[in-house]
Amino acid sequence: MTGNTRTDFDTGPLSAGVEILKSAVPATEAVLNAYIPVAEAKLHAIEKLEKWKGFTLPDPEPLRLEQGVPLMAEMPMPRFKSEFKTIASVMAAALKKGLPNLQSELDSVIGNIESDEVSGKIALSAWEGDPELIEYLCNEKDISLEAALLTGTSAMNVFLTLIQKQAGPLIKDMRWIKGYCPVCGSFPDIALFRKSGTDDPYLKSHGGQRWLHCGGCGHEWRFKRSTCAFCETEKHEELRYLQSEERPDERIDVCEKCKRYLISIDSREYIKEPDLRIAAKAYVHLDMIAQEKGYKPMAETGWNSI
Ligand SMILES: [Zn+2]
Ligand SMILES: [Zn+2]
Repeated sequence: MTGNTRTDFDTGPLSAGVEILKSAVPATEAVLNAYIPVAEAKLHAIEKLEKWKGFTLPDPEPLRLEQGVPLMAEMPMPRFKSEFKTIASVMAAALKKGLPNLQSELDSVIGNIESDEVSGKIALSAWEGDPELIEYLCNEKDISLEAALLTGTSAMNVFLTLIQKQAGPLIKDMRWIKGYCPVCGSFPDIALFRKSGTDDPYLKSHGGQRWLHCGGCGHEWRFKRSTCAFCETEKHEELRYLQSEERPDERIDVCEKCKRYLISIDSREYIKEPDLRIAAKAYVHLDMIAQEKGYKPMAETGWNSI
């Protein structure tokens, strides 16, 4: 592995990764089980849309990236024909399988998603990361806002992942020093410590490299170890972590300045790394601990607040 951006992602079926996570983290099997239909639907959708060309990536400029401007910052929303609508209804059906307690809420989305107005607005709200864009519409049409947001985010994740597949290799050797994603600008949903390989003096890793995984597009990039990825404070009196004695390789990094947290897994001694496409959902017990103590997640994925 060279550079500060990873391009050799987990591919193929999720089953192996699911089994490893279940045996490693039995506490949240239920959430992981609920997420599996969604993750599988997402993989299917990605395969089906492999040839989708509804977007144009801007040419990456090393200087802009170095200044902290994500590649997609000024990219307009992709030109969706019926793709968003189709994927949104597939994702809503998968969500229904995983989350039976949201069945009627998700039905209110499925029953309306064929409307261009509804699918268009849900897409835009997910693209902009702004729930307020669909509040009025949901009220007017009697659609559950929670289910519409969850559907919109899950569907948009498919398209962001497809964009990332092309964008990642383009920026792989460019410098990026921010805690948000260099491709889509989202904050990480999980961090991983990996064994040091070739090293970047700026990132100074003694014993392990800290990698962040994007909750939006799945991109992975390296980040300084003792800095809050959200507000960038480096003061150690503001940075703490919560860890249990029994599970020293899992910890919650918390920041007293911005009150955000990030779950962090030390995989240096693991035979196989956790599959990051699903790992964030396997540690929801840590989300609960952090949120009970008043911290907010860096990436609001919808799942860490269920
Ligand atoms: Zn991203
Ligand atoms: Zn912070």
